Amino acid sequence: MRAACRAMRSAADGLTERQRRALESICATFCPDGPSPRALGISDTLLELTPPSDRTALLRLLSVWDLGGRFSRRPRARREAILRAWRDSPIAARRRVFNGLRRGSLIPYYARAEPTLYVDPKPPRLTPLQIECDVELDCDVCVVGSGAGGGVAAGVLAQAGLDVVVLEAGPHLEDTDFRLSELAAYQRVYLGAAALTTQDGGIGLLAGSCVGGTTTINYTTSFRTPDDVRADWGEPFTSADYDASLDAVCERIGVNSDEGKPSKRDDVMARGLEQLGWHVAEMPRNVRGCEQGVVCGRCGFGCPIGAKQSTLVTWLVDAQQAGARIAIGTRARRVRVSCGSANAVEAASNGHSVLVRARAIVLAAGALHTPVLLRASGLSNPNIGRHLHLHPTTGVSGVFDDEIRPWEGTMQALYSDQHRDLDGAGYGLKYETAAVHPGVLVAFAPWESAREHAQLMAQLPWISGIGLLLRDRGEGEVRATRTGDPRVRYALTAGDLRHVRIGLDGAARILEAAGARRVFSSHSRLVAYEPSPGARERFLEQADGVGYAPGRCSFYAFHLMGSARLGSSPSNAATKPDGETWETRNLYVMDGSSFPSASGVNPMVTIEAVAHLNATKLAAMLT
Ligand SMILES: Cc1cc2nc3c(=O)[nH]c(=O)nc-3n(C[C@H](O)[C@H](O)[C@H](O)COP(=O)(O)OP(=O)(O)OC[C@H]3O[C@@H](n4cnc5c(N)ncnc54)[C@H](O)[C@@H]3O)c2cc1C
Repeated sequence: MRAACRAMRSAADGLTERQRRALESICATFCPDGPSPRALGISDTLLELTPPSDRTALLRLLSVWDLGGRFSRRPRARREAILRAWRDSPIAARRRVFNGLRRGSLIPYYARAEPTLYVDPKPPRLTPLQIECDVELDCDVCVVGSGAGGGVAAGVLAQAGLDVVVLEAGPHLEDTDFRLSELAAYQRVYLGAAALTTQDGGIGLLAGSCVGGTTTINYTTSFRTPDDVRADWGEPFTSADYDASLDAVCERIGVNSDEGKPSKRDDVMARGLEQLGWHVAEMPRNVRGCEQGVVCGRCGFGCPIGAKQSTLVTWLVDAQQAGARIAIGTRARRVRVSCGSANAVEAASNGHSVLVRARAIVLAAGALHTPVLLRASGLSNPNIGRHLHLHPTTGVSGVFDDEIRPWEGTMQALYSDQHRDLDGAGYGLKYETAAVHPGVLVAFAPWESAREHAQLMAQLPWISGIGLLLRDRGEGEVRATRTGDPRVRYALTAGDLRHVRIGLDGAARILEAAGARRVFSSHSRLVAYEPSPGARERFLEQADGVGYAPGRCSFYAFHLMGSARLGSSPSNAATKPDGETWETRNLYVMDGSSFPSASGVNPMVTIEAVAHLNATKLAAMLT
């Protein structure tokens, strides 16, 4: 019997024949027939994209999905109706399954085109350590993570003459490696292949996982911390030293407003905003020699010409030149603490154990992994993992008569703060655009049937979107799963949803004023209108009717913050203002986790500035 079961399993993927048939027929229902999703191997990619924590549940579902061929043998129209019933289910877990399968089928289907890009080959800037045996290293400071916080901390500490070891879980890619298809970029340089979500599936969680962290794949928007946010946060953000750190990071990463030629998407947004008489301004960007055309639209997949001044091309280069060692593919597991003081990091790399002994340890693994590491290291401060902010982002899209080619052009050149402060206390939203590649449209577009969806995808060249980036008052929580991965709980509060609703209306108004002939939201069902008297009001009623509960409207988080926040007391914060944890000496946090609340602006410059400030203080203590 056991042998027979084994025989029914496909050696390649561990699926039984029944599970495979179910999965292939689900993919074939979401996708159009030509080219055949089966021939493209879509079901295999869907499995690869499924987060490990969801895989067992998926396999269990696939075992019963198609009993007696009750799904695969039905005609397409019936199969589509079954999927729509999951989409519209009152049970959130079913909507989560629907969205996981929808994205898992359609992103691999539409996002696989290889780019035709020529870029001059250049020698790599970094020569990181590849761990090939069990090792023990000694240094002054071990920095975990090489993104906005970790990259800056490593650069500052190494340039102060300290011996620094950086541990980075992700791979090392340089300019010419970034000629990736959209799908390959998600698979190679995004955390969890860009398929992670909050536990209820309500918000997609995006971050980079590679040398340079999220700065390698981010959109280069470089806002300084707003003055009112600094005043609200208090020390150290109000200090003159923090001003100096803001200046230093903006200088090092080349923040400027001269390389922001508006894309056609930005032209659309500016036209609408100007028609309405609303605020519009230039986006500051951290680029040097940006192409601001086709290449620039690929910013989210890594910059193939090295124009983006990520930590990969700035602070980590400084760190290496000052002697720092950067170990790649090396995941920190826990910090060793003895007599209340941190003294080493235990890590794993390619099946080898790595032990880094250090006088001080800086955690900069991002707002999902830093709290998990703190807990794994035995810290118990109740603020660890709490106060997570996400800047939940949704979008509204317009279809225009003129071709826009929304995947091209400067990533983000303009923004509007028209609704930045909706409650008199600085909470509201920002309007921004971003390049729309096929996988991005899939993520935010409704699905009614394979045919309707394919027709929508075919309109991509004429589509332009406006993102609403919410400054959230609401908070979530990060905890570790049994396998040590982060699990995120987060629910939009009623107040935050009121602001989203204002943003939905605002974005529709901007698109309508810019001349869109059709406008649609990011709801799971088609919520759309063609401008005419009263149409927008009916659109908003329809949007409210579908609602904003998890799985009913697409939200993504590009900005992960606050999960080990700094503050004046262990009762309200996980670390002291200088980043040292309240309960363990010589253990510091220097990344997006440190924010006291949501920054309300794209956070990279703030993360770099606070890491710069606190790494400078740490260097002064250690030298
Ligand atoms: C698509 C996208 C676009 C964005 N665009 C902008 C923008 O234009 N402007 C802006 O201001 N912000 C932007 N952001 C956000 C911004 O880039 C991030 O907030 C910022 O980089 C976070 O910095 P960090 O140091 O907290 O973490 P990260 O930069 O994410 O770095 C964390 C690093 O730690 C590594 N790591 C995790 N766990 C471990 C472990 N256990 N051991 C070793 N290494 C580990 C990860 O692999 C990762 O490389 C964007 C984000 C996304 C996803």
